Amino acid sequence: MHSGGGLKFINLTRHVEIGANSYYLEAGDQRLVLDSGMHPKLEGEDALPNLAAIADRQIDAIIISHAHMDHIGTLPVLMRRHPNAPIFMTEATAEIGSALLHNSVNVMTRQREELGVTMYPLFTHRETNRASGLWRSCPWRQQITLSGERASSRGEREITFEFVEAGHVLGAAGVLLRFGDRTLLYSGDVNFGDQTITKSAVFPETGIDVLIMESTRGDSAQPEGFTREAEERRLAAAIDRAFTAGGCVLIPVFALGKTQEVLAMIHKFRRERVLGEFPLYIGGLSSKMTEIYDRRATTTRRNFPRLQLLEELEPFVLNGQNIADAPARAGRVYALSSGMMTPKTLSNIFARRLIDDPRHSIFFVGYADPASPGGIIRRAAPGQQVSLDPDEPAQEFRCRVDEFQFSAHSSRESIADYVRKLAPKKIVLVHGDAPAVEWMRATIAAALPGSEVIVPTPGVELEL
Ligand SMILES: [Zn+2]
Ligand SMILES: [Zn+2]
Repeated sequence: MHSGGGLKFINLTRHVEIGANSYYLEAGDQRLVLDSGMHPKLEGEDALPNLAAIADRQIDAIIISHAHMDHIGTLPVLMRRHPNAPIFMTEATAEIGSALLHNSVNVMTRQREELGVTMYPLFTHRETNRASGLWRSCPWRQQITLSGERASSRGEREITFEFVEAGHVLGAAGVLLRFGDRTLLYSGDVNFGDQTITKSAVFPETGIDVLIMESTRGDSAQPEGFTREAEERRLAAAIDRAFTAGGCVLIPVFALGKTQEVLAMIHKFRRERVLGEFPLYIGGLSSKMTEIYDRRATTTRRNFPRLQLLEELEPFVLNGQNIADAPARAGRVYALSSGMMTPKTLSNIFARRLIDDPRHSIFFVGYADPASPGGIIRRAAPGQQVSLDPDEPAQEFRCRVDEFQFSAHSSRESIADYVRKLAPKKIVLVHGDAPAVEWMRATIAAALPGSEVIVPTPGVELEL
């Protein structure tokens, strides 16, 4: 591989959006796919990456950055279409990903019944078992060839990859690719700041030619003087106020990542005597994810390495069955998924129980699509009729709502700082809605006039 030539790239998402993330790369005669996600909002064929764009190409390897569904959710489908490609990810991603894909089979089966999506489930429990048995887990910071060997004296023309910590959720990696004298870094989802448990990313600061960078938070500015510590204190005070008002608190969370961060915050509040003891509830899938965090606590780069969340916080576990008998009780925190309060999920079912009662509170701690029930509640005016589930009657919106910034993604300012320091020759912007990507494009183009900033048109092959 010679510098300047032969590197090809196709954005396999269907639009400029945070959709079904998947990216095709070709260097010399080697071809690989980075991530194989499922669209968080769409169903059926539209939920899949645009795999037709690479249908006639042989794939030499599949590399998965982390276990969120928008990055791993359709991996069994990609594996079925490219059965000879080895699949690489970190060990934690493999463990979490297998549990999340099995959960997804259940969700898709329900969507087949309720929404009539006849192509669902896209894969079965049996296929998920078979697929995850083929995954190869790789250590951090080791150069590996696409055939899975440790790269020792790598050939001029051989691609190697290396997982670097992305600081986003347990197991999340950036992928550092080398081929000949060129280097490419795919950020996956990245956080350059510490969260409560998860520590910041450890990305290379020099020597990258091409950077494929996520743009999730590109459309919202970090408030002046923002710190996570102050935001944590604001959350503790808000929980205290809600309890004093005689209500409970619902915190809609993602099962992977946000649940564990919220549990760790509550641990901190108790340890620092900001809050006393109170009953805490999480969902079944979140409990499974938390077990994995606990099991890997001392071998993960994180804060509170000795904290065993389940043992320390003893959360009660709710599931699809017992949620029906769980009343909204004052003085309790319910950290339930999904984060966007998608209909039929625990957080949606539970929200319908407390939304018309002004004593209760819903606290949002992450992103919710404006069209999702979570997004609708955030914008609703008190007294307004809101519908959280199309199959249920609308309700009067009376409960309290507050929002907190505990994103697992870097602020746009810290991403812009990183890109400015790294100064790659080419920057490819992905994983963001159009306004977010546009802010990143304009900001980076102004800061690095000598670099090329690319917003890759979905489905179109580019030369990088
Ligand atoms: Zn993610
Ligand atoms: Zn993502």
